[in-house]
Amino acid sequence: EATRWLRHNLPHTHVSGGVSNVSFSFRGNEPVREAIHTVFLYHAIQAGMDMGIVNAGQLGVYDEIPAELRELVEDVVLNRHPDAADRLVSFAETVKGKVKDAVEEQAWRGEPVLARLTHALVKGITSHIVEDTEEARLLFDHPVKVIEGPLMDGMNVVGDLFGAGKMFLPQVVKSARVMKQAVAHLLPFIEATKTVDSRAKGKILMATVKGDVHDIGKNIVGVVLGCNNYDVIDLGVMCPADKILTTAREQNVDIIGLSGLITPSLEEMSHIAKEMQRLGMRQPLLIGGATTSLAHTAVKIAPHYDGTTVYVKDASRAVGVCSNLLSDDLAADYVAKLKTDYAEVRERHLAQRGDSKRVTLLDARANKFKTDWTAYTPPTPKQLGVQTFKAYDLAELIEIIDWTPFFQSWELHGRYPKILQDEVVGEEARKLFADAQIMLKQIVEENWIEARAVIGLFPANTVHDDDIEIYDADGKVQMTAHQLRQQMAKPAGQPNWCLADFIAPKVSGVRDYIGGFVVTAGINEDARAKAFEAAHDDYSAILFKSLCDRLAEAFAERLHQRVRKEFWGYAADESLAHAELIDEQYRGIRPAPGYPACPEHSEKGALFDLLDATAATGVTLTESYAMWPAASVSGFYFSHPDARYFAVAKIDRDQVADYAQRKGWDLDTAEKWLAPNLAYNT
Ligand code: SAH
Repeated sequence: EATRWLRHNLPHTHVSGGVSNVSFSFRGNEPVREAIHTVFLYHAIQAGMDMGIVNAGQLGVYDEIPAELRELVEDVVLNRHPDAADRLVSFAETVKGKVKDAVEEQAWRGEPVLARLTHALVKGITSHIVEDTEEARLLFDHPVKVIEGPLMDGMNVVGDLFGAGKMFLPQVVKSARVMKQAVAHLLPFIEATKTVDSRAKGKILMATVKGDVHDIGKNIVGVVLGCNNYDVIDLGVMCPADKILTTAREQNVDIIGLSGLITPSLEEMSHIAKEMQRLGMRQPLLIGGATTSLAHTAVKIAPHYDGTTVYVKDASRAVGVCSNLLSDDLAADYVAKLKTDYAEVRERHLAQRGDSKRVTLLDARANKFKTDWTAYTPPTPKQLGVQTFKAYDLAELIEIIDWTPFFQSWELHGRYPKILQDEVVGEEARKLFADAQIMLKQIVEENWIEARAVIGLFPANTVHDDDIEIYDADGKVQMTAHQLRQQMAKPAGQPNWCLADFIAPKVSGVRDYIGGFVVTAGINEDARAKAFEAAHDDYSAILFKSLCDRLAEAFAERLHQRVRKEFWGYAADESLAHAELIDEQYRGIRPAPGYPACPEHSEKGALFDLLDATAATGVTLTESYAMWPAASVSGFYFSHPDARYFAVAKIDRDQVADYAQRKGWDLDTAEKWLAPNLAYNT
């Protein structure tokens, strides 16, 4: 066998005399083990090793090792990369047990067709779904019975396992893909017989509200409901209230589900609740999305609507909530309990509100973070002004992706890379991660998306305590960034933070600087995601969107790093490992408007003007200042060594009035934009 191996791999190598002894192990993982043996021997012989003692049964053909695996193994064997071992271990987790799966796969093909359909659904396998569905169709007198019988049986198994926490979201979405493709095959036959399937458990309208563009969570909920036999009408993103409410009435839906990610969407949801009340609607209203919460739903939405309002924390609760709401026996009790629960949440919330002490804006400013500007000289950027990046190298971004939020978006909780070994979700995390690697490769190799960015570095000084003036080269004010200041009472020695404190005040006479950025990894994202959806492949659509988000964040990280090292250049020697970079263990911050240190979203408008960002990148802002495409990030760069993130949290009337005046707004406008941060009721 060894001779045969040599002939295959190294036909021209002359092998003779000498001994070298090396060993390694990768227990239980045959593909990786074989690759290591093969690659190692291949290079060792080429490098002049005289003799190796190997288990020839574990050797493969060098040229047949998948390129990605070969590269990872070579990085280890040839010591080409500091993280090589970690990367190989992570990758190895994703191919573990493939051989076993292959054997299993063969076995289920021998089962009768109905068992095969259930198996395909539960395991999320699409490879034979059309032929199996067709075979099943011929068994029944009516095609709809394939759906009502084996397909629903399979989906019920999936739903039960998911509800019991024994199955995870990526699996459910994959199962739904199988279901959709089977149904798509049956649909023409069903239409031909012209009977209507009216046996859905209920009609649910879903929408991402006006001004918001985020739909990963909404789409996941839609998929989960759909595969539990609810009829889902999805109105997509940026959906105006009247469209939601008109459609709800026209289609006579049973439940309305609203989704949103950015804070202005919270106000829009309250608005919709008020509209439903005004129109005398009675449908239950579901609220979900990253910035929504039980408290917000109970305090700010539910009181406006006499119908039922329910906060749905994540996709795994959606089916439970809907089936309770639409159940003939359970709904009344369920709704009564919700109403008392939410009333309690409101009471608790109001009681707590009185607890936290705040100081006046004047006192908060007196307790600002202080820098001795005579002893500190801000670094001067090497390259002032605006720079645009088009078609940025995606491969460079993949290396610095922060994977933890990726798993979160799939409701798999835990930190990467540890999550891959997690006892409960590890296996699913590994599969999802492996699928992500395959798709990322395609994204890069086939240029599925384009990454674009614009960044700018400018002279800047703080005026009137909390405003940052940003100047052009001639010292003319180009933009004023209005900041908010913490107003909670602080223990001695702790300042009331405001981002403006990290920039030298104009009166100090010190020249200081600030940066701004807009990055996107979403050019062409929408069309490709829609193509997946049209092909009944929500799994790929959602996976793709979640990867675009990751690439956008990685792009923000990468450009920030280049700003520190090259363009601003104050950290030219910085050299951080992946984990340290993800931890943001560097000097400087990149706060993003809408996040806790600068929670007011409309500031993005001025930032976009400053950078002429829409012309440079194609990224636009909605009326709520969400960025479109969704896979975009924007913010400011601060270089001060003490610059840090914090949460402005709740502010009082004096600051709201002051902010309104600085922005040139009336009080109502200010209270609308600052709604999530008001310490008082309006
Ligand atoms: N590695 C993460 C990065 C995004 S979260 C990922 O890939 O998802 C961290 C970013 O959110 C920061 O860089 C900053 O832009 C923003 N951020 C976090 N906390 C913030 C705060 N308190 N105020 C303003 N921006 C904040």
